[in-house]
Order: sequence, then structure tokens, then C-alpha cells
Amino acid sequence: MGALLDVRNVETFYGPIMAIAGVSLSVEEGQIVTVLGANGAGKTTLLKTISGAIDCRKGQVLLAGEEIQNRDPDRVAAKGIGHVPEGREVFPFLSVEENLRVGAWGRRDRDEVARDFETVYAYFPDLARKKADMAGFLSGGQQQMLAVGRAFMGRPRLMVLDEPSLGLSPLLMKTIFDVIRRINGEQGVSVLLVEQNASAALAVADYGFIMEVGRVVMDAPSRELLASEDIKEFYLGQA
Ligand code: ATP
Repeated sequence: MGALLDVRNVETFYGPIMAIAGVSLSVEEGQIVTVLGANGAGKTTLLKTISGAIDCRKGQVLLAGEEIQNRDPDRVAAKGIGHVPEGREVFPFLSVEENLRVGAWGRRDRDEVARDFETVYAYFPDLARKKADMAGFLSGGQQQMLAVGRAFMGRPRLMVLDEPSLGLSPLLMKTIFDVIRRINGEQGVSVLLVEQNASAALAVADYGFIMEVGRVVMDAPSRELLASEDIKEFYLGQA
């Protein structure tokens, strides 16, 4: 059995600028994997390449053995990848409930959709209280919860999240990371998590990849990365 997600030697360009310079990584079924790196390392571009928002010039992206690179984002979503984009991108003029319904678009298993609504509301009680409110009126943290909930409503095999902790208070960050852990552990969704907050990400992840200027420079189980002097110095803010 191969990995659930297998990224092989991917190169992605913006015009003449190479943002991803031959990246390979994989996510095993059931794992939480994190990609760490400074601003501009190419993490967002990598996730967009995986979810079909940008085409790659070389390489392959395989989901459960099937090539999915350079397909339209909606087809990649239908194959089982749920993307939680940087900046949340909820629909501001739709209600919380309607945003979640958009996430379930195309699903025919109505009973399970109803159960998944309840799961999202149980994971994020704030969203349950505000289900009729327009998403644009939510706080930043609540919009992040909604973005995670919306991706979950698509029942992905793999959820890819782009900096979900960005701009959140420590308490809200804990809420989001706890739910990511539960979506993985209780709902069986594998996770690829891009983060600048290395310590929070490594605390939930099984395995981590470090990116610098478009390349993977190191990868190891999270506990090894947490113990590495280089990682401590450059990413965990302690020598
Ligand atoms: P951040 O944490 O800021 O999102 P990142 O690691 O996700 O950083 P990317 O946003 O993927 O990095 O950017 C990778 C490289 O591609 C950077 O050098 C960036 O300047 C460049 N880049 C990103 N978007 C574009 C674009 N639309 N046009 C041209 N260059 C871009």
C-alpha cells in the first residue's frame, strides 16, 4: 500500500519564478503531517499545487495512487482533498449554516450530512450559537473555525490547512488545534498542516517537513524535530 498523498518532485512556477523547486513528500493514511518554514518558503504554493489551485510544471501529485496534479480544484475536492485556505475565505454574505452547506455540496448521503453538521457544531459551539449569523460578522477565530468546519463537511480523506493559527489568540489556537486532532483521531481524516507556529504544529503532528526557498531541507518524526538543536534555534525560538 502506498501513501494516501504522494507528492513527487513537484516544480511550480509563477511566470519565470520557481516557487517550488522539486518537492517530494507523503502523508500516510491516518497521519497528521506538518510542513514548516519561514515566510516565502513555498508552503502556500505547495498546498495550492496539491489542491489544484495552481498547476505544477513538473512532477506528480498522487492521492491513493491516482494522479491528480493539474486538475481543477473542484475535481480534486471531489476526489477527497479538503482545502482550508490561508485567510479563511468564508462567504461573508452567507450564514454560518449556509457556508457549511456549501462544504457539503454534491454529497447525497443526507443522513450523514446531518450528522456531520452536528459534529461541527459539537466541535465548535461558537458556530452552533451563530449558525444563522452572516459569516462576515464572525470574529477572525470563528471564521477560521468555519473554514475548518466547511472543509470537514466535504468529508475529505485528506484535509490540507494553510496556517490555521495565523492571527489567533493562544486560546483560539488551542481550540483549532484540538479540533484538528479530533477530526483526525475521531473522524479518520488525514491531515497536511502548513504552519509558521512550529511548536504548536509539531505538538499535534506525527511527522514534519521543513521547507526553505522552495525545497524540503529536512524531514523527520515530530519528536525528532522537536529535539533537534537546529530546529529549536531556527523555528522554536530557543537555542
Ligand atoms: P507565506 O507564509 O508568506 O504564505 P509561503 O511559504 O507559503 O509563505 P509562498 O506564498 O508559497 O510561500 O511563496 C513562495 C514564493 O513564491 C515566494 O518567493 C513568493 O514571493 C513567490 N510568490 C508567491 N505568490 C506569487 C505570485 N502570485 N506571483 C509571483 N510570485 C509569487
